[in-house]
Amino acid sequence: MMKCPDCRGKLEIVRACRKVAMKCGECGREYRIHEVADQIDEEAEEALGRWTAIVYD
Ligand SMILES: [Zn+2]
Repeated sequence: MMKCPDCRGKLEIVRACRKVAMKCGECGREYRIHEVADQIDEEAEEALGRWTAIVYD
């Protein structure tokens, strides 16, 4: 499970158009993928892999 660096809440993948971000379910803070890249686990990788047109900004 990916955790929010701020509050340790659970991060969920959110998708908006061609952009993908991680959003904390606790504090609502959004992170770009590269900001939490060190936390990407198998579950997240699989989810990200479903979107072929991902733009990592
Ligand atoms: Zn948080």
